[in-house]
Amino acid sequence: VDLNGCLNPEATRALVQAVRMLETASLDDKSSSRVLLTTHVNPDGDAVGSTIALAHALRDRGTTVDVVLADPPPVYCKFLPGVEWITPCIPSMPPDLAIVCDAAGIDRIGPVDHAVKVARQTIEIDHHGVARPFGDVRVVDDNCAATAELVYYLLTALKAPITPAIASSLMMGLVTDTGSFRFTNTNTRAFRLAATLMEAGADLSRIMDQVYDQKTVSSLRLLERAISHLRIANSFASATLSRHDFQQTGATQGEAEGVIGHLRSLKGVQVAAVLRETGPAEARVSLRGRPGYNVAEIAALMGGGGHAAAAGCTIYLPLDEAERRLRETVYKFLDQIKKSVS
Ligand code: AMP
Ligand code: MN
Ligand code: MN
Repeated sequence: VDLNGCLNPEATRALVQAVRMLETASLDDKSSSRVLLTTHVNPDGDAVGSTIALAHALRDRGTTVDVVLADPPPVYCKFLPGVEWITPCIPSMPPDLAIVCDAAGIDRIGPVDHAVKVARQTIEIDHHGVARPFGDVRVVDDNCAATAELVYYLLTALKAPITPAIASSLMMGLVTDTGSFRFTNTNTRAFRLAATLMEAGADLSRIMDQVYDQKTVSSLRLLERAISHLRIANSFASATLSRHDFQQTGATQGEAEGVIGHLRSLKGVQVAAVLRETGPAEARVSLRGRPGYNVAEIAALMGGGGHAAAAGCTIYLPLDEAERRLRETVYKFLDQIKKSVS
C-alpha cells in the first residue's frame, strides 16, 4: 500500500492488516461470512457517510454486510443511496468481522456493542484524538479531517472502485466534519480528497443543500429558545434546551444540532456549549472551541471525549445544575489557559 505517508506508521500498518482481513472476508464462503458495520450513537454525517461508503464497497465485492446503527441517520443523510440498509436490529449470528467507524470507544456505539464484542475480529476506523482503544486492528489517525478520509484510503488499498454513491457518502463525511472546510482540521489532504471525490461523481450540490438549506421551522423555533437562554461570561457561551423547549417547539433532539454553531460563531467567544435535557437528571453536552482551546480536555474532565474543536459528554444532573457544573469546569480551564499564556 502506497499512501505517500498520508497516515502515521501504526495506522498504515493497521490498514494493511485491515485489507488482508477484508480480502479474506470476501474470499470465504460468501453465504456464511458476515461483516457487521456500525458507528457511534446519534450518528453525524461522517459516521453515516463512512459506514455507508464501506457498505457499498463491500457489497460491490460480494460480501454480506449488516449495517447496524443504534440510532437513525440524521435527516440530511437520508438521500444517500444505501441508507435504507441501516437497521437497529442486531443479527442473530455473531459476525465474522465487525468494522466500527468514527467511534472513540466501544461505549459510544450503544447496544450494538454486544454484536461487536462477539465478533471474531474487530477493525476500528477513527480520527478522534482522545479515544479508548477497543479494536483488534486500529486504523486510527487524528490528523485525518474525517473518518471518511481513512475509509477512502482503505478502499483505495482494496482497489475498490469509487462509485458515485461511495464518493457522495465520503464527501458527506468530509464536508460535515470540516464544517465545509472552515475548521482547523481542514488540510491539503482534505482538499485533495474533495477533488478526487468530485471526479468520482460526488453530488456536492445535493449534499450542501441537504446539510445547510433544508432547515425546518421547528429547528428555528428551537434556536429562538436556545438564544433566550443564552449566557455569555469569560468568553464562554452556553445555552440550555429543556424537554419543555422541545415539546413546545415540536423539534426533535436532532434538530438541536445547528444551535451550537451559532454560539461558537459569536465574537469574543472561545468556548461554546449547548446542554440538552435528555432525562430528569441527564444533560447531553455539545462543546465547541476555537483554535487554542481544546474542548476535548473539558469533555474528558466530565467523562466524555472528542476532538480539540468539537467534543461532548453527558452530565448526570438536572439541567440547571449540569450547566452550573459545566461552567465551573470551563472557567477553571479558561483560567489555566490564561495563566499559561501570561
Ligand atoms: P456532538 O456535539 O454530539 O456533535 O459531538 C461532538 C464530538 O464529540 C463528536 O466527535 C463526538 O463523537 C464526540 N463526543 C460526544 N460525546 C462524547 C462522549 N460522551 N464521549 C466521547 N466522545 C464524545
Ligand atoms: Mn462523528
Ligand atoms: Mn468524524
